[in-house]
Amino acid sequence: MKSIKVLMLCCFALLSTASLAQRDFSQVEITTHRLADNLYYLKGAGGNIGVSVGEDGVFLIDDQFAPLTEKILAAIQVVTDQPVRFLFNTHHHGDHTGGNQNLGKAGVVIVAHENVRVLLKNGLTSGDLDRLLTADQRAGLPVLTYTDSVRFHLNGENIHAFHNGPGHTNADSFVHFQNANVIHTGDVFRTTGYPFVDGNASGSFLGIVASYEMLLEISNPDTVFLPGHGVPSSQDDIREQLDMLYTIHDRVQAGINGGLSLGRIQSDNPTAEYDARWAGGKVKGPDLVTVIYNELISNFRQKMRREI
Ligand SMILES: [Zn+2]
Repeated sequence: MKSIKVLMLCCFALLSTASLAQRDFSQVEITTHRLADNLYYLKGAGGNIGVSVGEDGVFLIDDQFAPLTEKILAAIQVVTDQPVRFLFNTHHHGDHTGGNQNLGKAGVVIVAHENVRVLLKNGLTSGDLDRLLTADQRAGLPVLTYTDSVRFHLNGENIHAFHNGPGHTNADSFVHFQNANVIHTGDVFRTTGYPFVDGNASGSFLGIVASYEMLLEISNPDTVFLPGHGVPSSQDDIREQLDMLYTIHDRVQAGINGGLSLGRIQSDNPTAEYDARWAGGKVKGPDLVTVIYNELISNFRQKMRREI
């Protein structure tokens, strides 16, 4: 039952304050899973949390929901007696950043791609006026931001966080633990359903495809990919999804090339053989087809305008 709840919540940050308030987090259990020496991930409700531990302190990736912060910190203290020094947000969605304010107020340094800060701040105030934010609100925002990549040197590990362009959102980071050979992919890669492109945050289907290709290039057969939601995966798992995305993309492109409308393409059901495995989350087959269609049509029209 819990896993169904988690699936339903996965990565959709548009949860209203009201629905969050109604949600009972008291029954959520945080479980700890080992990925490598000194590297763990935590499951609970929301995105998978990465935890790198050692004598230099704790490096945390994402923090689920605010009511879970105490439980998350308690779980971390089981595997280390060191304090949390850094929190890295893979993107801005509320099931990955809900605990930010709690941790920021406790003195944890929050780091993210610069667009994470923009998107989180846009949810608090309009314009660019940091001075309109309260101290509590500022505590939940990244205090250190980067644009292309940033490295952390902690606990003998090289932690390389980088942005590969728009995908799930325009603020995605991958976090590569280069010694442990583990990559936290945020929600760009998930094993719980079709990829989700957040149009409100300038996400991109083609960007997700490009990111999968890049992940394969920088990894090897022993690399472990920790998805934003779901279970640790291998290159083969990324390839399986990538092949599916190529196929669906090509079917939608063929429909566009043939002058078919979105409705007509959807009626041909380009995701048919994949729905049983991947349509169990919030993104159904027709949703994915719509996203792909709109992006391909938009690119086609831009190309036409340039050529005119
Ligand atoms: Zn997300």
